Amino acid sequence: MTFLENYIAGELLPPVSKAYLGNVNPSTGIEYSKIPDSDKEDVEKAVQSAKAAFPSWSKMPKEKRSRVLIKLADLIEENLEELAAAEAKDNGKPLKLATRVDIPRASANIRFYATAIMHYASESHAMEDAAINYTLRKPIGVVGCISPWNLPLYLFTWKIAPAIAAGNCVVAKPSEVTPMTAYLFTKLCKQAGLPDGVLNVVHGLGPKVGAAITEHPEIKAISFTGGTITGETIARISAPMFKKISLELGGKNPNIIFADCDFEKAVSTSIHSSFANQGQICLCGSRIFIERSIYEKFKAAFVSKVKELKVGDPFDDNSDQGAVVSETHMNKVLACIETAKKEGGEILCGGERIVMQGNLANGYYIQPTVIDGLAFNCQTNQEEIFGPVVTLTPFDSEEEVLKYANSTKYGLASTVWTSDVTRAHRIASELEAGIVWVNCWLVRDLRTPFGGVKNSGVGREGGFEALHFFTEPKNVCINLK
Ligand code: NAD
Repeated sequence: MTFLENYIAGELLPPVSKAYLGNVNPSTGIEYSKIPDSDKEDVEKAVQSAKAAFPSWSKMPKEKRSRVLIKLADLIEENLEELAAAEAKDNGKPLKLATRVDIPRASANIRFYATAIMHYASESHAMEDAAINYTLRKPIGVVGCISPWNLPLYLFTWKIAPAIAAGNCVVAKPSEVTPMTAYLFTKLCKQAGLPDGVLNVVHGLGPKVGAAITEHPEIKAISFTGGTITGETIARISAPMFKKISLELGGKNPNIIFADCDFEKAVSTSIHSSFANQGQICLCGSRIFIERSIYEKFKAAFVSKVKELKVGDPFDDNSDQGAVVSETHMNKVLACIETAKKEGGEILCGGERIVMQGNLANGYYIQPTVIDGLAFNCQTNQEEIFGPVVTLTPFDSEEEVLKYANSTKYGLASTVWTSDVTRAHRIASELEAGIVWVNCWLVRDLRTPFGGVKNSGVGREGGFEALHFFTEPKNVCINLK
């Protein structure tokens, strides 16, 4: 049994309480490691360590900061196999997905911000011959980064990399459901020569560790990715303390298929956008709207491909899908399927838990599920499920599909399939979402703004947006007369 440790002031430490939580492998349902059940005392130590590291890290030339981060990105690549295996075991996702996407992206995040910081310039505003203004951008100090379980190392590094590159020191909390790769990452930080205290990782529960980070008066900014309800709690606590907050929250993304689309491509990419990572990607399209003239054709082709998806051992190369992340989450998703049935939905395929054989018998597997016959405004089509479940709904006009697409409280991502360029622009402009993909899905350029509108979040990550977030601008006005 591995006992994970917190990473504070460059040291791997047990929690002050000496208490631990069990960490379960979702593909077997068996506990295989223990994580620190930390509390505010550990967070306090982490904040003091970050505070002590801040003066020298923030003043270190950015070339040097960049070099350390590049070394860290290289080390992630060198340890790809170990990290990908750890991610698959901790999260239940297919090893091939962790190898192809999660871990390379974690390295790319760090490399991106290691180089972005070298190109990060500030503005100057000349007032004819009266004065000239320039903007100084300074790191904030100690910042908090709180991340979820669905893309563990990928999203953990997506926050930490810009924070550190900009010269801040970080107190970070990975999800207690998937803590392993963040723990392994701390060892790489040491190896890369990241100065002690620049990154501190405190493991444990959200309402204890996450809350202690949010409430700490010396943590001046919080970057959070997770559920909308947790985001609301963080916003409520942070607002009266005047903290900067960046919130990347839930979604209920529409995937709109027009009759003039490239049919084969729309079907095959929709399989991916519906079920990748067992549907546990905040960007997955969970509501598929199909123009009525191709509804039956799309439904038949889509359902037939879904039935071919192989759910199985994450470590089997033939598995398209692994386990969902936890027993609690599996039960939540299965309950959502029951709600859909009660609402009059017809289960076209899937809808059940899969009980595997042998050592996987207690794992958390769900059949990829497709439902039709539901109203656009029922609970199933309004609330995030975050699992391998999608609904199909026909539409007759652009106006109607925009009404359906924009009807939820969320506004994260959306996908449109059409060969009509003018329509693509028109729909993209009217969709209430932070991200619109046209004739593709999950094509990511790290320079672009990433985030949602409405209850899907506040602020944007990505590119210079994240560097703006992790710095404070100061205008300096010089009199020219
Ligand atoms: P969650 O909100 O339960 O937990 C996220 C993190 O917050 C975890 O580290 C958790 O321990 C911590 N936390 C929980 N309660 C807290 C509290 N009171 N104070 C501070 N921190 C607390 O979310 P989850 O179940 O881990 O992740 C799934 C959710 O994340 C989904 O809603 C999904 O859409 C969303 N998500 C959004 C994005 C995005 O970019 N918008 C990306 C991935 C996931």
